[in-house]
This record gives sequence, C-alpha cells and structure tokens, in this order.
Amino acid sequence: MKFTFRGVRGSIPVAGSHTARYGGNSSCVEIRANEGPPLILDCGTGVRASGMEFLRDRVQHVEVLFTHFHMDHLFGFPFFGPLYSPSSSINVRVPAASGIDAQNKLSRYLNGIYHPLRLRDIPADLSFEGLDLDQEFEVGPYKIKTIALNHPGGSCGYRVDADGSSVLYLTDTAPMTTPDEGITANKKPPELERKLLEAMTEADAVIMDTMFSFDEYLERMTWGHAYPEYAVKLCELMGAKSLYLFHHAPDASDDSLDELGAYWAEYDELPVFLARENDTIDLSK
Ligand SMILES: [Zn+2]
Ligand SMILES: [Zn+2]
Repeated sequence: MKFTFRGVRGSIPVAGSHTARYGGNSSCVEIRANEGPPLILDCGTGVRASGMEFLRDRVQHVEVLFTHFHMDHLFGFPFFGPLYSPSSSINVRVPAASGIDAQNKLSRYLNGIYHPLRLRDIPADLSFEGLDLDQEFEVGPYKIKTIALNHPGGSCGYRVDADGSSVLYLTDTAPMTTPDEGITANKKPPELERKLLEAMTEADAVIMDTMFSFDEYLERMTWGHAYPEYAVKLCELMGAKSLYLFHHAPDASDDSLDELGAYWAEYDELPVFLARENDTIDLSK
C-alpha cells in the first residue's frame, strides 16, 4: 500500500513563495493498494491533483472518505475531475446517520449558491454512505476502522489496512484530554483516548494533525488541533512505526517547517517526518 499527500495545509489553502516546498493545498491524502480502487481521504484543494491523475489513468471507480465537512476538507470536491465523467463511479462515505443524511450534508454546499455545480447535476455515478464512529468495514482490498476525534462539530479518524500494512489518518483533532489528564499526565486514558490508542496499535504510519506547538495549543485548547509531542506520545505507547506531522498552519512557512523537521529528525525513539505535498510513501518497502 502507498499513500500520497495531495494537500497538507490546515484551515485554508495558502498559495505563495513561502509555501512552495511543502505545498499550499488543503487536506487530502490519496491511498492506493496493489489492487482495487484508490481511496481519497478528504477533499481539500489537494484533491484536484488526484482527479487529474485518475482521469489520465482512466480510473473508473474511486472511494472517498471525509473526516468532517469544514471547508479546508471539502472545498476541492467540486474540482475533482472524475465527477464530470459519466463513466466514473464515486462512492462517498461521511460520518452521518445514513446515506441520505450524508448526501444532504454535501448538497448544502453544492446547491448552486456556493458553487455553480449542484449535487444532483453531477454527471458521474455518485453514491453515498453514512458512517458511524467506531465502525469497521471493508472496501475492496481495504479494511477500514472509524475513530472518534476531538474537534468542534466532530471529526472522524480512519485506520486503513491493506496489503499487510496500515496507515492512520487522524485529522482534525485536539488531544483527547487537557494536559493534566490522560496519557499526557501519565494517567489512565479516558474512553475516547483508549479507543484512539487501540486503533493505533503497531501502525506502519500515522498521519496526524499537529497544527499547533504545545504553547499554541495551551492558548487554543478548544480549537480542535493537536501538537507534535502528543502525536509522538500516542505513537510510542502503541508501537506505531512512523509519524507524519500534518495539517500545517497557514502561517507555517517552508523555513519554519524545515526547522520543525530538523528538530524531530534528531529524535531517536520514533521516525517523525513532515507531510509534504506530492510525497508518496510506499509502505511495502
Ligand atoms: Zn482542517
Ligand atoms: Zn476542522
């Protein structure tokens, strides 16, 4: 199994010379197993690049999973090329009570006001499924588990297993507790943190929202974003093999991300990398 970062930015896409190296597109990760359809995790502006590639390669079927519908994870959806191809089929899964509920949520954006395209006019064969938190299901070669995250309005993390390897996509989320509780205080984790830890067991790669530094987190604890030390602690407790810091702040310049990367490159206990747009990680190697 391989995954490619198509958009690594949080909150808003940021174009400009100061984000040229890590990329300015907002959240989107593309997963490809050896066989079966590609999986798209979130449709931030980065999904446009996946769409162009899928059209070029004549990919017929795509599976899309959303963590939540904040705009930085949704804005690219109507710019996903296969939507405009009548021969494409796209199945969209969203944390929602039902497929109809999932469809209704998306049609509030694609209703002709915020974008000229209306959901009902999409030429591709589009289907919807609602997801529960803490649910396990299979799609082609992928075994997928949903995980409740800690974010205003809710967010759904995913563990994806295929071809004997595993990757977790954990965005957007604050730590599950304040720093004086749970694993950050070396205390017993509450239920949500315990479930998150369990899902991370021996993962090959963890992609996690670390938009804040610890000090920024202390100032904005209710904003729903985490910091690198928390992600590192989760990974170490559960034997995860690598961590990718993700959902970079709009103000994080390439130079400041280089500094963050250099700091964590010195860390011996766990390989910690920065997510960078268009980097592909091959977990079979
Ligand atoms: Zn976000
Ligand atoms: Zn969000």
